[in-house]
Amino acid sequence: MTAPTAKTVHDCLKSIPGLTPDMVSGISVDAGKVVFAIEVEPSQAKAMEPVRRAAEEAVRKMDGVASATAVLTAERKAPPQMQAKQPMHKVSQRPVAPQVKHIVAVASGKGGVGKSTVAANLAHALKAMGKKTGLLDADIYGASQPRMMGLRERPETDDAGLIIPPEAHGLKLMSMGFFVEETAPVIWRGPMVHAAIQQLLRDVAWGELDILVIDLPPGTGDAQLSLVQNVPLSGAVIVSTPQDVALSEAAKGLLMFQKVGVPVLGFIENMSYHICSSCGHREEIFSHGGARAAAEKMNVPFLGEIPLDADVRIAADAGATLKNAAIEEVFKNIAARIWMTLPAEKTVPRPPKAARI
Ligand code: ADP
Repeated sequence: MTAPTAKTVHDCLKSIPGLTPDMVSGISVDAGKVVFAIEVEPSQAKAMEPVRRAAEEAVRKMDGVASATAVLTAERKAPPQMQAKQPMHKVSQRPVAPQVKHIVAVASGKGGVGKSTVAANLAHALKAMGKKTGLLDADIYGASQPRMMGLRERPETDDAGLIIPPEAHGLKLMSMGFFVEETAPVIWRGPMVHAAIQQLLRDVAWGELDILVIDLPPGTGDAQLSLVQNVPLSGAVIVSTPQDVALSEAAKGLLMFQKVGVPVLGFIENMSYHICSSCGHREEIFSHGGARAAAEKMNVPFLGEIPLDADVRIAADAGATLKNAAIEEVFKNIAARIWMTLPAEKTVPRPPKAARI
């Protein structure tokens, strides 16, 4: 059996009708798992879906291939006023959310630890504390905030050409999820992610806010780095589950923020423990206390432990606020700690600090 290589994959794709070699990019082969991108015009994304599937199928049949994933890469359809003015890779010259006092990022070293869920609940808790709060869903690869906030419609534009952030539960929300289909298998290149997020900060009528919570894309790659370098963040919180693997990823997140001079306000342990709703027995499904121990070791504040509880998931899926007073209290305590740590004055934009991790 011959092991597949980027070249053999590329050669195999030459036989696919509708696919030319210059459209294929980013072929990665790792232990028989093949991933590659097909670059298409945004308007062709739908029409190219059968070609994408055929390409995947052909590669899957190659000798030594265990799995094949093809993604369509396109500059996605931007909000109308973005299209009218400039292509997505050019960043608007408007100031970043000028009337927003503090921008706080919610980050995680890896996906699936509940970062978006924590960001949404922290935003609710800050609102409940009487703070004017906004939520920016920058998790461009898995924009889940519109669903978690129960919002679907495309936002309107005001007379000045700014996008009006829709409101849910007293929060202003902006998300790329309003402009792209949730299920489309399309990836974005780094500079496009950067430009899109900059526009969601600059071309949105955020108005006066005490705090804007940003739900960052998971990880510590170029997209995250460019975002934290170019946004005047007052600070960041890092969400992790208690396990070692999640914690080592969280440590990378800490390093990323430290390198660009953004204060890490603390670690949050999500899915920290579970209390059985029928018998009250406490279970530590993913172990427990790892984030607190890591925070102590790395000398960052520990902000709190959020239990693994069906009420959290149910509220998120229903686009509703949490209906569990004890867990709401946990989020309120964490939100209060975050708010108290923030400086009294608005954070001014820092000159971008070059950093690679
Ligand atoms: P991430 O943003 O880190 O990828 P999500 O916030 O999307 O993760 O959460 C992943 C899944 O886990 C979602 O279905 C969410 O409802 C669920 N979830 C997150 N935190 C909790 C929790 N504390 N208890 C129960 N379910 C949770």
